[in-house]
Amino acid sequence: MTIEQLLIQTAARLKVAGSTTPRLDAEVLLGHVLKRDRTWLYTWSDRCVEDAALTRFETLLAARAAGEPIAYLIGEREFWGLRLQTHAASLIPRPDTECLVEAALLKATKTSGRALDLGTGSGAIALAFASERPGWQVTGVDRIADALELAQANAARLGILNVEFIESDWFAALADQRFELILANPPYLAPDDPHLELGDVRFEPRSALVAAENGLADLRHLIITAGAHLEPQGWLLLEHGWTQGEAVGEALRHAGYQEVTTLADLAGQPRVSLGQWIPD
Ligand code: GLN
Repeated sequence: MTIEQLLIQTAARLKVAGSTTPRLDAEVLLGHVLKRDRTWLYTWSDRCVEDAALTRFETLLAARAAGEPIAYLIGEREFWGLRLQTHAASLIPRPDTECLVEAALLKATKTSGRALDLGTGSGAIALAFASERPGWQVTGVDRIADALELAQANAARLGILNVEFIESDWFAALADQRFELILANPPYLAPDDPHLELGDVRFEPRSALVAAENGLADLRHLIITAGAHLEPQGWLLLEHGWTQGEAVGEALRHAGYQEVTTLADLAGQPRVSLGQWIPD
């Protein structure tokens, strides 16, 4: 069978299985098996695929047809132009989260400083920020050892040196360290959010997605505890759900943060709230 025939057949099968991007999925998975990019598949579309490759492709297809995310199947996802390895122990980096990185960069006007990424997972936020601010020292923490290993592997693979990853349940292992910027994309979905039963999210770790108090428990906890780890005039920046902007802004003001603002993501939805820590 030629590459083009195989792609047509596979896309049809993935469509029946419920994929909303069947042709793209087929190309990405076949490209992964053949270690070629999608342009190559088009250039050589009348080539035949060898049996060994077909067997490996079939294994991936069966998993994809069962809903497994592409990012876990091929083991990587691009975030902020960085190629990051992915693993089922951590959330798949999302374009939404680039809004948080952008907001943090706007606050990082000095040439050096310290930034903290809480619940770093694959290291996406910490690595994106560190790559843009080589004069800053960035710390990423996570309480899940497999996630830290992944973040460390990503830093090494990308050759990003101004970042360190530490096992810590939020601030627990950080003693009295302080930072100019604290960033987090904590779990913020309500336990009964119907979105949890759809698409890729079904395969991601619940601990990275779901929080009590209608999704607000971890956001509130971080807002209350971050002040003890912020330098004076430092900023706390939090990603949250599109319905949570008001509640998060309110919690920030209530905890004494100044200049509280909520920013919209590329889709125009409230996505990130921030506040400045000015001790009296
Ligand atoms: N933005 C993610 C989603 O909607 C949730 C990520 C999170 O809870 N931090 O799937």
